[in-house]
Amino acid sequence: MYVQKNDYLRELLVELTDSKAKLEEYRISTQATINSLGEGLIVTDVRGRITTINPYALESLGFQEDELLGQWFPRSIVAVDQHSHPIPQLDRIIIRALTTGQTVSGRTRYLRKNGSVMPVFITVSPVLIDGRPTGAIEVFRDLTGETQLELAKDEFVSLASHQLRTPATGVKLILSMLSQGDFGDLTPKQKKYVDKAIQSNDHQLHIIESLLSAAQVDSGRMELERDSTDLVRVLHEAVNEHMAIIQDKQQEVFMDTPPKLILTIDVSKIRMVIDNLLSNASKYSNPGDRIEIELTQQGPHIQLSVTDHGVGMPTADLKKLFTKFTRIKNELSTSAGGTGLGLFLVKNIVELHQGTVTVISDPGQGSKFTITLPSNQDV
Ligand code: ADP
Repeated sequence: MYVQKNDYLRELLVELTDSKAKLEEYRISTQATINSLGEGLIVTDVRGRITTINPYALESLGFQEDELLGQWFPRSIVAVDQHSHPIPQLDRIIIRALTTGQTVSGRTRYLRKNGSVMPVFITVSPVLIDGRPTGAIEVFRDLTGETQLELAKDEFVSLASHQLRTPATGVKLILSMLSQGDFGDLTPKQKKYVDKAIQSNDHQLHIIESLLSAAQVDSGRMELERDSTDLVRVLHEAVNEHMAIIQDKQQEVFMDTPPKLILTIDVSKIRMVIDNLLSNASKYSNPGDRIEIELTQQGPHIQLSVTDHGVGMPTADLKKLFTKFTRIKNELSTSAGGTGLGLFLVKNIVELHQGTVTVISDPGQGSKFTITLPSNQDV
């Protein structure tokens, strides 16, 4: 009996020693992985106090380990917005992950110890044991290099578009003088070709403006110049300007609007939104199809919808519709041409006005784009 008990204890001891060795081995390999990670790693307890931070995170933030260990993460590592104002501690991604128990990721900017700003992409995953949060793990990637590259690309697009706009505008002026007979009467054939050149030049200017606006959105430099405006008048002006192309396709536009609707908006940018929706409704519809425009006031909001009965889109394509350079293939997209910038700009301009844009679409049936804007916009 006594011998059996001794054997049992010896076995237990061997097992324990074995487990301890395995745990130590595991701890060392985990530590080595954490230390050699090419990304920042910060582990916190359930209250958000830092329990582990790897060398990459320390080096990129410029801190020593003992300055951060045990500290409350949102206080010791400050995040700032694009104007370098500190982001409120309770709005920080780490706090969202800890309070919701969900993995949260996104871009932010960390303030290094020397006061410089480091753009980062972070993913914070809560650590759950038996479904209960016991802490969080944040992994961050320094985006400094990528951001500089993006800025250089935006600068280039912006510069090139500016340089292209001046001569293209000069051509527009001369072509319209030619077309109006300022340099003498034109034969019908000459007039036909000058008008075609005007159309191509308009198209070219539209692409240049879209590229310039997209570069402004990307660099966060797009700003609104709001004015009190009658949106109904803006809508009529837009429809009139598109009429030649719409009639060319024997399409008809039906408008249902109040006589007047005053809003405080950036007129030229909202015109860009309307132009894009109207031009798409015509481009992606067949000859003879109708286009409907409806403008309504719904309490504190206005709703503007553009409906077509054209080729429509599969539901699976709708989620990527508003991203830059997205073009969806359909039977008309090759002949219609385009840059894939139109709806990207629509979304960004509407959101700058604190509005939203939604779409419903059915292949072969058509599409309806609806923008909602607050009717009392602050100037
Ligand atoms: P572009 O028209 O220059 O390609 P947009 O950003 O305006 O770029 O549109 C992106 C894509 O969405 C288009 O390529 C087209 O396939 C699809 N699309 C946009 N509007 C409509 C519409 N009214 N009906 C069907 N497809 C559309």
